[in-house]
Amino acid sequence: MKQFVVIGLGRFGSSVARTLYKLGYDVLGIDSNEEIVQSLADSITHAVQADATDENTLKALGIRNFDVGIVSIGDDIQASILITLILKEMGLKYVVAKAQNDLHGKVLYKIGADRVVFPERDMGIRVAHNLVSSNILDYIELSPDFSIVEIKVLPEWYDKTLRELNMRVKHGLNVMAIKRNEDVIVSPGAEDFIKKGDILVVVGKNKDIEKLERYI
Ligand code: ATP
Repeated sequence: MKQFVVIGLGRFGSSVARTLYKLGYDVLGIDSNEEIVQSLADSITHAVQADATDENTLKALGIRNFDVGIVSIGDDIQASILITLILKEMGLKYVVAKAQNDLHGKVLYKIGADRVVFPERDMGIRVAHNLVSSNILDYIELSPDFSIVEIKVLPEWYDKTLRELNMRVKHGLNVMAIKRNEDVIVSPGAEDFIKKGDILVVVGKNKDIEKLERYI
């Protein structure tokens, strides 16, 4: 079973750590703040108070034996970079690091982070799309050109089939799934009907999604 070490137990790090633990994984959390460590002691496998920029401390904690490292320090960019570098040098196969901004992200990739996440930026994008159109429930950027959106169906779409809606031709978008109450119809067919209250999960080019956002 995979073992995870989460360094920096702020809002993001603690949420990742708790979720992994709930999913049944072994999670070691490290934070320099004793209070934070105490507050998480019962929610993850082990919580340790330590300065993770100290290589010897990380060695003593046996970090090299972990499969995945998550570095979740935003304010102290220097610490985030240093810790990411140490984890990669120790031989951790997969290191995820949280970046505060694009430049921080670039540096993290350069020094070997396998994945860089931008939680604040991504959540900002999702909230903005939802604010522009309240029919857009969620927005996930797949690449700079493509995204997935969840759209509340419009009244004029009720009881029409996907063929009649013709989203691919009219808007250049593909319906990947229909969410109906607790059910999800994955890869719906052209003859599947849209019902009141449905949510469409749609994939397409950002420029086509933006056009649809203005229309709905
Ligand atoms: P959030 O996820 O809450 O947005 P953030 O991006 O603002 O967090 P910080 O608050 O800077 O990040 O740091 C997150 C946590 O990392 C804090 O609890 C802090 O105590 C811890 N931390 C910072 N530097 C170190 C370090 N060198 N070693 C261990 N933990 C550290």
